[in-house]
Amino acid sequence: MIEKRMEELIKIINQANIDYNTYDNPTITDQEYDNYVRELQKLEEEHPELVKPYSPTNKIGGKIIDTFDKVVHDIPMLSLSDVFNEDEVIDFDEKVRKVITNPKYVCELKIDGLAVSLKYEHGKFVQAATRGDGIVGEDITHNVVTIKSIPLTLPEDIDIEIRGEVYMRKSVLKELNEERKKEGKELLANVRNAAAGSVRQLDSKVAANRKLDAFLYHMPQAIQHDIHFQFDALEYMKKLGFTVNPNIKRVNNIKEVLAYIDYWTKHREELDYEIDGIVIKVDSFLDQEKLGNTIKYPKWATAYKFPAQKVLTKLKDIIFTVGRTGQVTPNAILEPVLLMGSTISKATLHNEDYVLQKDIKKGDTVAIIKAGDVIPRVEEVIKERRNGTEEEFHMIKECPICHSPLVKKDAAYYCVNDKCDKIQIEKMIHYVSRDALNIEGLGDNIIEDFYNLGYVKSFIDLYHLKKYAKDLMELEGFGKKSIQKILDNIEESKKAPLDKLLYALGIRYVGKKTAKILANHYKNIDNLMQASYEDLKEVKDIGDAIAKSVVDYFATPENQKLIRQMKELKINMIEQEEEIDEKEDFYQKTFVLTGTLTNITRNEASALIQKYGGITTSSVSKKTDVVVVGENPGSKYDKAKELNIEIWSEEDFLQKIKD
Ligand code: NAD
Repeated sequence: MIEKRMEELIKIINQANIDYNTYDNPTITDQEYDNYVRELQKLEEEHPELVKPYSPTNKIGGKIIDTFDKVVHDIPMLSLSDVFNEDEVIDFDEKVRKVITNPKYVCELKIDGLAVSLKYEHGKFVQAATRGDGIVGEDITHNVVTIKSIPLTLPEDIDIEIRGEVYMRKSVLKELNEERKKEGKELLANVRNAAAGSVRQLDSKVAANRKLDAFLYHMPQAIQHDIHFQFDALEYMKKLGFTVNPNIKRVNNIKEVLAYIDYWTKHREELDYEIDGIVIKVDSFLDQEKLGNTIKYPKWATAYKFPAQKVLTKLKDIIFTVGRTGQVTPNAILEPVLLMGSTISKATLHNEDYVLQKDIKKGDTVAIIKAGDVIPRVEEVIKERRNGTEEEFHMIKECPICHSPLVKKDAAYYCVNDKCDKIQIEKMIHYVSRDALNIEGLGDNIIEDFYNLGYVKSFIDLYHLKKYAKDLMELEGFGKKSIQKILDNIEESKKAPLDKLLYALGIRYVGKKTAKILANHYKNIDNLMQASYEDLKEVKDIGDAIAKSVVDYFATPENQKLIRQMKELKINMIEQEEEIDEKEDFYQKTFVLTGTLTNITRNEASALIQKYGGITTSSVSKKTDVVVVGENPGSKYDKAKELNIEIWSEEDFLQKIKD
């Protein structure tokens, strides 16, 4: 079984290597490729007796096409090991530190292009080659001379080999593809393959037209030029007239490497070239020598690969869920796949129109992205991967829970049966959720169980739950302590601020922000209930739809009864004015907190800032007055320095509170 899977993986990887490296025409995504390689590596580690001598895990690149002259590299052009998350970066550092004390690193952007070796004799360019299989590459001199940013003569009369990456700018690919579209030609898939495909052409006119660029990052024989550090080699290359990426950074420890990764994860989109990761290199060549290489990659460097923002997976099924507003949404059930650090097995399909527009079918291979980085969404169908067994989508006509007919409003379908169990459960889940009344201990499944067992059918029932305390303690998974905690939390939630309650009620269009505006303006629920549509429309940021919805909600006898019952239960319905204790260092100032605070939580710090008259925001801008920096700060710290904003350490902050 295992051996069979290993053979299967070898076949898939070999084919992918040929498509990608030899023909510059990938047929699977890099993410899929990396996953297959990782799976094979893991199986090989666990079953060394099954490792095949022809396994691709030890080979670099692809086959050389015979049409090019061959170039044997003086020093092999290796690949890089890769790491995919923070823990693996730290593991890399630990391995290095077993051999080297206090290693310094150079962080570089991992340019998504094609590795090249350039040779100069007496300061004159003589030859360019691809990496090929690492030992033998292809002669691409005729094409590389057309790249304007590669110097053909150097200011020094030296023999030297320089390596780097030939790449295509994103803007160039866009322009080229627009032209190709007009001419009815096939579009170039991505910058990497466009660059590789251009360099590996026999006719140099093609490469010349493709406006390629190059960043250089490696001098294999630097020591012969009396250079002993990677950072110094990069500086020397600049002096020789090579384009070195401006974002290289020499750092003192792995913490600073992580900060660099964090910064570029957030800012990579701002670059006009693709980067697919960060390369981390031990700075000292002496240290590099001590660490050595494997046959495939150096042990003194590694590539951190950015998590894919888009992954492919199989759509196994489409199911329908009912939300608290009664909206019935189609959802994709997916073969679980890792996307930006979390495993995704479900994604929203929004509504019928969305599914039909994208032509999504059960059984399709689909690309998933994280919309706004949180909710996974099916972005597109990979139609080339269809095999004819896919099933057409049909929107359902009845509520999957209560079977009442669905009603279409705009693009969405709704279950309009107010008594539908699922709607009631979802309303309750919303009521106790963190941003609403924040009743801890009542997770989604518990609410559903309590509802199905008949203990909680409405918001009001929650406050009578104590009557059933004994029965609840008998339920599997509960004990005296946990039930008591839930009951205490319910009691405590009665004191929640008015805006939380307004949001918890689930009035249509009243989100967190609107609830706050209404609570601030009307101060208590009675004022709000008496407000007319015209009154509401006068309030800043309250539009037509919200005003109508609020009036309708409070005009409904059932809702009036609910509010009455809530008052009897002594649930807070008044907006409490927060007392501000003006403190000079804080009053009317805007704060940003970044990094881990060790003696105080972020919420506590924000509450103190508010208490003394300041506000906390999430991003650093010119309007920020102070940035409080904890451990391992991210890009906000860099930005604060850049904008010359006052920076406090956690100790400074605590001291100012005490003062
Ligand atoms: P790699 O791309 O992961 O890393 C090594 C390469 O990084 C170097 O050869 C160099 O070209 C490049 N690089 C860019 N910036 C650099 C810098 N500053 N310093 C040093 N090197 C830098 O390894 P690889 O062996 O070239 O290719 C393997 C990867 O290619 C896979 O992980 C996968 O992402 C992709 N791949 C995809 C398919 C596919 O079918 N989609 C097939 C094969 C390979």
